[in-house]
Amino acid sequence: MKIIDIRIHPLRTPLDTPFAFSQGWVRSRSSTIVEVITDEGITGWGEAFAQGLEPPQIATAVIDSALRPLLIGADPLDIEVLWHRMYHMTRDYGRKGSVTAAISAIDIALWDIAGKAYGVPVHRLLGGAFRTRVQAYATGFYRISGQGEAARLADEALAHHEAGFRAMKVKLGYGLKDDIAVMAAIGRAIEGKGVTLMIDTNHAYGVGDAIRLGHALADHDLRWYEEPVAPEHIQGYREVRSRVSMPVAGGENEHTLYGFRDFLGAGAVDIAQPDLGSVGGFTAARHVITLAQAHGAQVNPHVWGSAIAQAASLQLIAAVPVAHHSVFAEEPIFEYDRSSHPFRQMLVREPAIQKDGWIDIPMRPGIGVDVDRDILDRYRIG
Ligand code: CA
Repeated sequence: MKIIDIRIHPLRTPLDTPFAFSQGWVRSRSSTIVEVITDEGITGWGEAFAQGLEPPQIATAVIDSALRPLLIGADPLDIEVLWHRMYHMTRDYGRKGSVTAAISAIDIALWDIAGKAYGVPVHRLLGGAFRTRVQAYATGFYRISGQGEAARLADEALAHHEAGFRAMKVKLGYGLKDDIAVMAAIGRAIEGKGVTLMIDTNHAYGVGDAIRLGHALADHDLRWYEEPVAPEHIQGYREVRSRVSMPVAGGENEHTLYGFRDFLGAGAVDIAQPDLGSVGGFTAARHVITLAQAHGAQVNPHVWGSAIAQAASLQLIAAVPVAHHSVFAEEPIFEYDRSSHPFRQMLVREPAIQKDGWIDIPMRPGIGVDVDRDILDRYRIG
């Protein structure tokens, strides 16, 4: 089998209601979707994760100008070989960020091709399913006006609960006082309802405030505290982790085995959160899982992309071993973004649907997506 073409679909749609996370206002949702086409009629789908503020044109340019020449004519089943080829040939200007996201998109598509060629879901190729369904957690609690939205966010928690979610991740990082008020309101709203909370500041604070926030929220029995400090501040992560009571999580802005070697080797986190669409695809996620196992850290993948990223991430999470084996071991949970996102709701014909807070792992070949080309055409830019 040979790769004969690569089609790139940078997508963007403006949001009806722009929202803020701690790093800025998100006014549109974007995605870079790729299609790797073979001479045997098999097409693989992949996605480069576009962070909230990341233009999809960057990964598009990387795939088009740097990766395409390395891939045309290659055997798509040489996945590990091609990963190393893409990494080495972009090393001097890549290693992180949008370049690694571009490699991720191609790698996901190659695993999709392999699954279709062998007639199995990707998790079978990764070594099998540790679980056939996964608990979903609601990601939401974005800000519409900024600060002072505690009452509305408490109502939002009740809406997630009503929709079946028993785990939720609250966006913080809007000032310590505001964060603490929001958590108090949410805590009161969900009291006695059996809800597990996580928090995510998207690295809004320095080490001192990050620790102060952790201390102030010690009574919320948080499952994790995500991105307490900037991703490159590994020493800061260590310090926060040594001073707060809850597990520390991070890694959506870290990349490849090399980035995670430093992150995990320093003892930065209890829970590593690679995103398939930026860590370097399934190939890199597999490396990171092995590294995390060696360091006694849990892996709980991050996913905030389109329906294609969600489908791929479901295949990955099926194949993530628990870090600390026991009869009642803590299982990874699946990030389910609840913000408005047409690429998640409409891009594929069978999007991931949570029922009573759980999602079944799809058993279709590859990553199991049937993409609606009308949606690609409608939202494509450039
Ligand atoms: Ca996050």
